[in-house]
Amino acid sequence: MATNARTLASCIFCKIVKGEIPSFKLLETESAYSFLDINPLAKGHALIIPKYHAEKLHDVPDEHLKDLMVVAKKIAVAQGLVDYNILQNNGRIAHQVVDHVHFHVIPKPSETDKEGLVIGWPQQKLSMDELSKLQEEIKGKL
Ligand code: 5GP
Ligand code: ZN
Repeated sequence: MATNARTLASCIFCKIVKGEIPSFKLLETESAYSFLDINPLAKGHALIIPKYHAEKLHDVPDEHLKDLMVVAKKIAVAQGLVDYNILQNNGRIAHQVVDHVHFHVIPKPSETDKEGLVIGWPQQKLSMDELSKLQEEIKGKL
């Protein structure tokens, strides 16, 4: 367990990290843990979580985030994935069900909607002026 990792006794993913409930573990680092999703969207669907318990991405201290994408890449490479999605949901209306931050690696083995992630992509039209104003607004707070 990473030094200073925070855990929540009632959290299912914290229990997995602590070995209190079983998981099909893939790879573990000091701050990250990865395992197979129990109800995969496709064969090889995996989850990568920080050992630090936090509900949403912005609640995780930076030092507990740094291994997550590296582990996701290793899992994709190990499976020889060509087409795949990395997904991380925050909040119920954004499809988050488990309230411990997790990144999905979801293989997309074929074009069919029957396996892998199926995405709605409702694109909006913004003027150059609107985009520019938005850019300034966000940059001013970074
Ligand atoms: P979310 O919708 O929160 O982004 O995704 C939660 C994911 O966690 C789902 O894909 C679900 O199948 C997976 N999951 C939920 N409970 C368990 C569990 O106990 N073990 C494993 N391995 N996966 C789980
Ligand atoms: Zn947790």
